[in-house]
Amino acid sequence: KVKSEGRNHVAVYTDDLTAQARQRVLLETRLRSALKLDKLECYYQPQLDVLSGKIIGAEVLLRWHDAKYGFIAPSVFIPIAESCGLIHALGKWVLQRSCQQLRQWLDQGIPPFSLAVNVSAQQFNKDQLLDELKQVLAESAVPAELLELEVTESALMIDEAKVVATMHQIKAMGIRLAIDDFGTGYSSLSYLKRLPLDVLKIDRRFVEHIPQAIDDQQIASAIIALAHTMNFKVLAEGVETAEQLAFLREQGCNYYQGFYFSKPLPAQEFIALLLSQPN
Ligand code: C2E
Ligand code: MG
Ligand code: MG
Ligand code: MG
Repeated sequence: KVKSEGRNHVAVYTDDLTAQARQRVLLETRLRSALKLDKLECYYQPQLDVLSGKIIGAEVLLRWHDAKYGFIAPSVFIPIAESCGLIHALGKWVLQRSCQQLRQWLDQGIPPFSLAVNVSAQQFNKDQLLDELKQVLAESAVPAELLELEVTESALMIDEAKVVATMHQIKAMGIRLAIDDFGTGYSSLSYLKRLPLDVLKIDRRFVEHIPQAIDDQQIASAIIALAHTMNFKVLAEGVETAEQLAFLREQGCNYYQGFYFSKPLPAQEFIALLLSQPN
């Protein structure tokens, strides 16, 4: 009896794994073809100056709408792309597409603003990134100062000496650097101090429960103070309410993004929103 139950259990577990693996392979195949057929889309979420309320730029967020399965979230397909190596081609595509888009906007006479592009840990730690950045900037003729790269703390942990060198090379090109989801990783302060960073982005989970959660308030203000001590700017992500924004203003947070002002938008809607803002 026990034995058959055990066998049964194993059988179910194996079936489950097989289904999961099949699902992964299926998504990987469809993602690969979506990339090849140019069916992915860049969305743009406004980033604003806390004090002036002006849009200073946008974060580029990848969107995938599959014909059969509908909208598939980046939290699902980015890890798949990372595990099968597709992240390199995907990351390059996002850089190219968003810089081409910015070039078009600049050519239309739209006042310059910056784009923040997410770079995965693997992409950041691969030698070809620097050449790709040079190539993308040259092809699009986008000024390097208008490009910001967002890397998570996990990207910093792979090879510290190399990360420091890479960051200095990227900075030397004129590109800005931000740490994404700050506060959720394990980077030491002495390490952070050695990095030529421009922005720390406070992770959404520390903003979410402000003002009710006193501990989150304290963490957010500590990150703001820390960033300023190190001469970095600080941006809060996931701002959804007027109360959260008021708190961040009081604490001296420089920038914010979040549903309170706007969710990520398709290119045309983003630019319409930007142009509708008073200068
Ligand atoms: P992230 O870079 O931290 O991006 C912020 C996420 O928070 C986005 O989710 C955005 O839609 C969401 N968000 C923004 N404001 C709010 C808000 O007020 N409330 C809530 N609840 N959420 C908000 P999204 O677009 O689903 O992306 C999730 C993650 O996937 C990103 O986190 C990033 O790590 C990754 N990702 C997205 N696009 C790319 C990409 O092109 N390359 C790479 N490597 N990763 C990407
Ligand atoms: Mg980001
Ligand atoms: Mg983030
Ligand atoms: Mg995140």
